[in-house]
Amino acid sequence: MLTRRDVLRLAPAPFFLRSAFGARMEGFERIDSHFHIHRDAPAVFASLKASGWSGLDLVVCPVAGDEPFDLESKLASTLACSRASGGRVAWASSFDARGFEQAGFADRTIARLLKTFDDGAIGVKIWKNIGMAIRGKSGAYLLPDDPSLTPIYEAIEKAGKTLVAHLAEPDGAWLPLDEKNPEFPYYSKNPQWHMLGKGTPPKEAILNARDRVLARFPKLRVVGCHLGSDEDHLDALARRLDSYPNLAVDTAARTRYFARGDRDKAVAFLTKYQDRILYATDYGLRDADPEAGAKALLARHDQDVAFYAGDAEMTYEGRPTKGLGLPEAVLRKLFRENARRWLPGIGV
Ligand SMILES: [Zn+2]
Repeated sequence: MLTRRDVLRLAPAPFFLRSAFGARMEGFERIDSHFHIHRDAPAVFASLKASGWSGLDLVVCPVAGDEPFDLESKLASTLACSRASGGRVAWASSFDARGFEQAGFADRTIARLLKTFDDGAIGVKIWKNIGMAIRGKSGAYLLPDDPSLTPIYEAIEKAGKTLVAHLAEPDGAWLPLDEKNPEFPYYSKNPQWHMLGKGTPPKEAILNARDRVLARFPKLRVVGCHLGSDEDHLDALARRLDSYPNLAVDTAARTRYFARGDRDKAVAFLTKYQDRILYATDYGLRDADPEAGAKALLARHDQDVAFYAGDAEMTYEGRPTKGLGLPEAVLRKLFRENARRWLPGIGV
């Protein structure tokens, strides 16, 4: 005789996916397209399995000056995470762009990236240090469309992998750092990324450089992290999505912008661009105990499902809001199908 516990353990995944939001969120595995685990964390993998989630672990090379950074150990620990996850965690590699003026930079970088593809990496992440922090010998900032990076994009496109691009930042990086700044909590703790008055390239120059990469490599799939840094400008993002069919965006750490903005506008945007938006959290396990980390990630997923699928009054990061109540077809794309198409190899 099976106990209830046995039944729960043996039941196929969809059994677990019943939710408070009716049939619309039932019966399909969901995908979080942007998080940071970077280690073998069985408690996290078990929780992802039990709750019906998979995701993408993105390596970041977050350096700009001449400080040391052990990218190799980050690549190795992320690969180990992916391998131990039972297929729940796919991974994307990265490269150190600081050497962009050195002889052989592109060839060396491409050779290393190809090795990560052999090791199962499904994409390559580039980060905001390109455009905002890395400088050449002349003092000029490295922009995303710098010719030194072109062969690398070409190699990623040829390998059929996805470029995951966190370029630029929310407008708050260029606004005075006071309580009115919606990004005050982040920039007050990370002042090196607060750009106002520092003589760095304007936000639009960075995004336009990214767009020139999109235009030059129309077959390169690009997922722009954090709503492509147009979280304050859904109209501008819409124009970019219209202009560049090879661009999609993730919602990592930006669901709060939908939650505090105009609800009808959010619903209209998510509906019109339902094939181009990938659900994501930007959750970081960091030094947390994996059991506690698993719970925190699950709570985030539950809260976000409640926001996108439910239509009840709720609190999102301390502000009152109301669930968007998106239809099932849109939810399936946002929480699964778009990730499978834009990041081939992700998800179970
Ligand atoms: Zn991230």
